[in-house]
Amino acid sequence: MRVSTAFNKMLGIEGASVAGVTFAPEGVVVSLRRRRCKLVCPCGWKTWASYDRRRRRWRHVDLGGTKLWLEHDVRRLECRRCRRVRTEAVPWARPGARHTRDLQDVAAWLAQRTDKTTISNLLRLSWEAVAKIVVDVVADHLDGTRLDGLYRIGVDEVSYRRGHRFLTVVADHDRQGAVVWAKEGLDSATLEAFYDELGAERTARLEAVSMDMGRAWAHATSLKAPQARQCVDPFHVVALANKALDALRRGEYAARRAVVRAQPKRRPGRPRRDEPSPSAPRRAALAVRYTRWALLKDPAELTDEQQATLWELKQQRSVLYRGWQLKEGLRDLYRLASPADAAAHLDWWLAWACRSRVPSFVTLSKTVRANRERVLAAVELGLSNSKLEGLNSKIRLINHRGYGHHSAAALIAMIYLCAGGITVELPLR
Ligand SMILES: [Zn+2]
Repeated sequence: MRVSTAFNKMLGIEGASVAGVTFAPEGVVVSLRRRRCKLVCPCGWKTWASYDRRRRRWRHVDLGGTKLWLEHDVRRLECRRCRRVRTEAVPWARPGARHTRDLQDVAAWLAQRTDKTTISNLLRLSWEAVAKIVVDVVADHLDGTRLDGLYRIGVDEVSYRRGHRFLTVVADHDRQGAVVWAKEGLDSATLEAFYDELGAERTARLEAVSMDMGRAWAHATSLKAPQARQCVDPFHVVALANKALDALRRGEYAARRAVVRAQPKRRPGRPRRDEPSPSAPRRAALAVRYTRWALLKDPAELTDEQQATLWELKQQRSVLYRGWQLKEGLRDLYRLASPADAAAHLDWWLAWACRSRVPSFVTLSKTVRANRERVLAAVELGLSNSKLEGLNSKIRLINHRGYGHHSAAALIAMIYLCAGGITVELPLR
């Protein structure tokens, strides 16, 4: 069997056959031959007339440990539709790409699953090349109809560059929280840009928009989609309750530490029998410090030790236990058997919290009261907590895997790839 025939069978390049194989220092170079065919512009327009031609190489999936390139004369054409000279489209690579479709698919498939350094080492691609591949593959796969048929959406923020920059992300509640849109910025104008892109007709069909308790997105939504019910995502409410409880715990800890610091210096020598132990206040301060997870975790997931901590706080009539009860009381709003009881439960909680004399919970009760209707709307519409919360952890993972340090565009492409419902097929035959 001739070498070119063997490579032809092995590679099975779509729309071309192998004309020759050379073993160059940089790897194997396979030159391709195509049947005589019309030139196709990336936009789809076809012509017989070519403008010029030049030799081009695409990196293909490695052959064992050897790098492999495909080589072919690509032609340029004067597209009447695009009104400029463009390079013809070839079946084995995406327009403008330096890597074949197969190699790009392998890299994108890996990007959905692992970190950037691993891909870069495994496929011998630079970080920049991996980032560009993600952008190319997403542009190819992103469904243009994803903005059609939106009825219930959620808006959330995503931070990157160590929390210095932010994206506004829109997800579809009815498609497991798949991301449908993302843009840099957090203000009202950012979300207004989404509604503008959606257009008046599709915006008018929105039934519910969930978000945090901030003003900016509420303003944009009231302006552009006044018919949509606005609601507050449950996990934002729960997060604020946890924050209030943590503020209370920190305050308690600081107070105990102050006692430790105010202790008079011990006289040297053996302590008198009636003298209080000097380490008691220190132990009390540490005890407060170690209550953190017992207080914040879901009661169903507490360890025996954490349950004992909570029980002890209850016996001591600690203010921390009262804070914990307040937090769980607010979470109960989302555990009610019947959503019809939600309004009564929330009003009971608001009354309790504002009389609690725990400053952080009094503040929280004011915030929740200001958003009462929007908090209740989420319960009534049954907007699930887990979908958007899951999205947040997915995006944290993307950042953690090293994709969040570049531009906003690169991060947005990664978010679409990993959380936009895109399926990348591996090039297996
Ligand atoms: Zn064109």
